[in-house]
Amino acid sequence: MFDYHMHSDFSADCETPMEDTIESAIEKGLSEICFTEHIDYEYPDPTIDFDLDIPAYAAKIKAVQEQYKGRITIKKGVEIGVQPYLLKRYEETLAQEPFDFIICSMHTTEKKDLHSGDFFKGKTVEEAYEMYYRELLECVQAFDQFSVLGHVDLVKRYTKEKSRLDFHDILTEIFQTIIPRGQGIELNTSGYRYGLDGGMPSADILKLYKACGGEILTIGSDSHVAETVAYQFKPSLQLLKEIGFKYIATFSERKPTFHSIEQLV
Ligand SMILES: [Zn+2]
Ligand SMILES: [Zn+2]
Repeated sequence: MFDYHMHSDFSADCETPMEDTIESAIEKGLSEICFTEHIDYEYPDPTIDFDLDIPAYAAKIKAVQEQYKGRITIKKGVEIGVQPYLLKRYEETLAQEPFDFIICSMHTTEKKDLHSGDFFKGKTVEEAYEMYYRELLECVQAFDQFSVLGHVDLVKRYTKEKSRLDFHDILTEIFQTIIPRGQGIELNTSGYRYGLDGGMPSADILKLYKACGGEILTIGSDSHVAETVAYQFKPSLQLLKEIGFKYIATFSERKPTFHSIEQLV
């Protein structure tokens, strides 16, 4: 099993040493993990600086790869928080280091923070969803330096009411942009921890992705503490299987390898 979304104390919102998470992954019988530390330029909350010391991070990954050799495979990933006006800057940053895997996430829309709730002020649920997805579409149309989209429907985590519209039209455009480029999406199981009815994205969006021809799919717990490694992977894989997905992807130097879901459940 593989967990392809996890943070350590290299991320500004996480204090867990890498070793703790690695030990937990080994204990849980995982064969491969990928750290995906945050880079979130111009994050609207001035109390957090989501920058990453890339040379130090790369050196640490190299060290733990050596230290845990033969026990678990460890990959060097990153989770970037995109906004339309920052894409050029991300291209330059990502060119500095050969990452194995890049998650493209959107934590900020209209320069406003989703997490703090700022973005939602003065908007209906449907207006918030539409703006979030339109801005995500704008980003993927202008930017292709990533492996998968992170927690595609993150917006749902912060709205108490459900949206009456599904926005499958904009999501279809997003998927039709990324799929031909050989990019995919993740199933982020942290949704279970936040009291949502499952992971991110929801089953209807996973089905839409499949219907659009999407095959590249990673699975990640988005762990910020060691205990949540591989959290709820079993029901998540079962769901993917039911929807008709055949493979989970892992990445090396940004190239995917496919693993049969049948053998993982
Ligand atoms: Zn994220
Ligand atoms: Zn994350």
